[in-house]
This record gives sequence, C-alpha cells and structure tokens, in this order.
Amino acid sequence: MSEVFVIGGGLSGSEAAYRAAELGASVTLYEMRPDKMTEAHRTGLLGELVCSNSLRSDAPDSAHGLIKQELEAAGSLIMEAARATAVPAGGCLAVDRGLFSEFITAKIKAHPKIKLIYGEVASLSSFDREAAVIVATGPLTSLTLAEELQKILGGQSLYFYDAISPIIDAESIDYEKAFFASRYGKGGGDDYLNCPMNADEYELFYNSLVNADKVTVRNFEDEKVFEGCMPIEVMAGRGKDTLRFGPLKPVGLMDLRTQVKPYAVIQLRAENVEKTSYNLVGCQTRLKYAEQFNVFRLVPGLQKAEFLRYGSIHRNTYIDSPRHLNKDLTLKSMPHIYIAGQITGVEGYLESTAMGLLAGIYAARRLRGLDAAYPSPLTACGSLIEHITGAAQPLNFQPSNINFGLLPPLSVPIRDKAKKRQAVVARALADWERFIEQSYR
Ligand SMILES: Cc1cc2nc3c(=O)[nH]c(=O)nc-3n(C[C@H](O)[C@H](O)[C@H](O)COP(=O)(O)OP(=O)(O)OC[C@H]3O[C@@H](n4cnc5c(N)ncnc54)[C@H](O)[C@@H]3O)c2cc1C
Repeated sequence: MSEVFVIGGGLSGSEAAYRAAELGASVTLYEMRPDKMTEAHRTGLLGELVCSNSLRSDAPDSAHGLIKQELEAAGSLIMEAARATAVPAGGCLAVDRGLFSEFITAKIKAHPKIKLIYGEVASLSSFDREAAVIVATGPLTSLTLAEELQKILGGQSLYFYDAISPIIDAESIDYEKAFFASRYGKGGGDDYLNCPMNADEYELFYNSLVNADKVTVRNFEDEKVFEGCMPIEVMAGRGKDTLRFGPLKPVGLMDLRTQVKPYAVIQLRAENVEKTSYNLVGCQTRLKYAEQFNVFRLVPGLQKAEFLRYGSIHRNTYIDSPRHLNKDLTLKSMPHIYIAGQITGVEGYLESTAMGLLAGIYAARRLRGLDAAYPSPLTACGSLIEHITGAAQPLNFQPSNINFGLLPPLSVPIRDKAKKRQAVVARALADWERFIEQSYR
C-alpha cells in the first residue's frame, strides 16, 4: 500500500489526514469547497463548523468532557485548534469559528506529509485497492458520491435523514408510574417500559406539545420527506386523537398493578442490553430542546427525566454501519475503504472528530503493515465504535452522540451520581491510555 487518501476536509477528514501524517503516512486530502459548496458550509476553510460554535461541556466528568480528554491525550488537531481559539462560554468549550477553521487549514497546509487538493471526488473506483481511502464527507456528502456509496453498499444501506427520539437516563424514570409490558404480551412480554396517561394527563401533554416552540426548518430540509418519520408535534397537529391511534395508542397494554386501562401510552424501548437508557418510541421531534424538556416531563413516569440526548430531525447522510463496517472502520465489502466522521452514524462535532482520529490511526498502521489495536468499549471513543458496529442494534440504525448511556455500567455500582461519573471517566481514561500507547508504537 502506498498512500492514504482522505476525501472531505471537514472535522473528521482534517483529523484523519493529520493523524495519519503524524504517524508517518503520505496523505492526500481532497476537499470540494470552495468550488462546490454544501447547503450548510459558508467558506472554503477546512474544519468549518456548520452550526453552533460550541463543542459542548468541558466538565471533566461529563460525557463530552471525557471524549475531549481522550482526543487531547491522542494529540487531536481539532482539540488543539479548539483550545487555541476558545472564547468564554461558561462550562462549555466554544470557539471563534473563523480562527478555529483558519488554524486547522494552516496546520494541514503546513504539514510536510499532506498534499491538499481542492475538488470534488465523485467516484471511489479510481483509487488503487493497495491504497487506504478514508471517506469523511459528512452529513452533507455530495450527491454524486452518495449515489456511488449507495451502489457499493446496495439496497437500503444509506440513510439521508435522521429522525431521532429523545433518550432518557433509566435512573431518572419513576418506576412507580411506568410499567414493563409489551403490547398483547408479545416478544418477551415485558420488552417495553410504558408511561400511561389518563384523559386529563393526555390533554395537558397534548396541549403543551402542539403549542411548544419548534426549531426553524432550513430551506434544504424539505418537509415532504418526513412522511415516514413524522415529528410527533406534526402528527399531533392533525387532530387531538391522532397520537392515540398512532404511536401513543393504549391498546394491548394494562398496568397489572393498578388494573387500569390507560387512555394513552408513551412506550420506552431500551437502548442497550444493560437497560441504562431508554428511547421514547415514536417521539422524533423538532421541538426546541428546552421545550422537549418541559413537554416530555409532563408524562407520568418522566417527571424527573434526565435527557441523555434530545430529539431532532435533519438531513444526514450516514451508512448502515452495523451491517457494513468492521471495527477498524473499513467497509466489509471493500476493506481498503475506511469510513470516518458523521457518515459512520455518530452525531456531533467531537464524535465525528473521534471517528476521523481512529480512521487516521488505522490507515497509517496498515500502511506500515501493523495490526489495528481497538479502544475498549469502556472508553468514549470505543463506546461509539460499539454503537456503530455492535451487533445489538435495532433494525433501523440510529446515530448517537456520546453519552454515559453508551458506556457499560460499573462492575461495582456507586450510588452517588458525581462519584459514579468520576469513576466511569477514570476507568475510561486508563483504558484509553493503553490504546494510545499500543497504537502510537
Ligand atoms: C446543518 C447541520 C448543523 C449541525 N450542527 C451541529 C452542531 O451545532 N453541533 C454538533 O456537534 N454537530 C452538528 N452537526 C453534526 C455534525 O457534527 C457536523 O456536521 C460535523 O461537521 C460532522 O463532521 P464530518 O467531518 O463528518 O463532516 P463535515 O464537517 O461536514 O465535513 C465533510 C467535508 O467533506 C466535504 N465533501 C463532501 N462531499 C465531498 C466530495 N464528494 N468530495 C470532496 N469533499 C467532499 C464537505 O465539503 C465537507 O468539508 C450539524 C450537521 C448539520 C448538517
């Protein structure tokens, strides 16, 4: 194998190119902007932030704080740029977006092992199978390349939109109100956790839902495509009882403790085998985050719900990774092609960066004939790899940001929340250090 080719100079592509080059590989990085822009990017700079300038919480014992520490321990270019261009933002790490992208662009251009080529890559077939090709073209991958990927993967393997329901921390659910059961006792009989509502509770929830503030739809996010994954508030707007005949239907469910038949039910499905987090089935939404917090907390059982992830709906190109990706981010059908960034089915600036870092490490090691080491699933980056390539995925694979729900519980439980988080973080960092030590040898 001769060279690493990286397609896409966003957060993940820049990180991948820089890491592979730092590990000794010769890298060619392709970026289509400014010749061809995406719907959201505004400049021709590398590592442009398409929306918020916040890289989320910087608290060391938060999930985003943990992934930052892992990236920094690995010498991440994106984290170096973020620290160098930080602006005051309370407990968050926010950056001056112009300076941030300029920093990344300058570092890439100055790197002796990286050649930067501006232009769209429309096909993957021209790359030598002896090379390592990292596809890091992001949620707004150019249409021509997306079509090519769809052909390579076949059938329904490329998603274009993301309809995400909120995810709740299992410990914050009131189990006096919620009960386990499957509709008509199907499956395991208790596969779902059900939050029952009486007529008054439904009325309150319904009115708050339809009156809540929504995120403004961008002009490229066509409403028409959402018939198959309609936001709950849009469905509610069609009539007061539409939800009761749809995702909130009460049929086939009875709380055996009270023997009361609910008027409406929100069903929660476990996100992982340990059942540390639950997803609100059918509650994909475009409500603003603060409104989601208020509206869903009206549901009995969720009065104190802690949101690990809020719902959203947006254009997002990503592949069905559990079916198509190996743990080293190569395509099962074409192992010289690595997939990195948001297109792998992670969600968020840092999560995308992390997938770029790993792809860069793996590609550079392969070039030197070395095996890949894998981060343990107890680390933030390893837990994301588990999420996108793990077997325990529902049929309809959904992207995820980093959250503590992805990390396995401690072997010895700790009740105090702050201490528990610190222990999870310490456990992750110890494993991460080992991974870096093995990978940078
Ligand atoms: C509108 C929008 C808003 C978002 N807001 C946030 C947010 O506020 N916070 C957050 O954490 N995450 C946000 N995300 C999600 C995600 O974290 C970011 O999109 C992130 O930039 C993804 O990193 P990436 O490297 O995978 O993709 P990108 O950063 O988008 O990089 C992909 C790069 O590939 C280039 N490219 C595409 N096709 C080709 C091609 N064929 N040839 C050559 N180059 C190509 C693009 O021009 C781009 O530079 C948002 C996503 C979108 C779409």
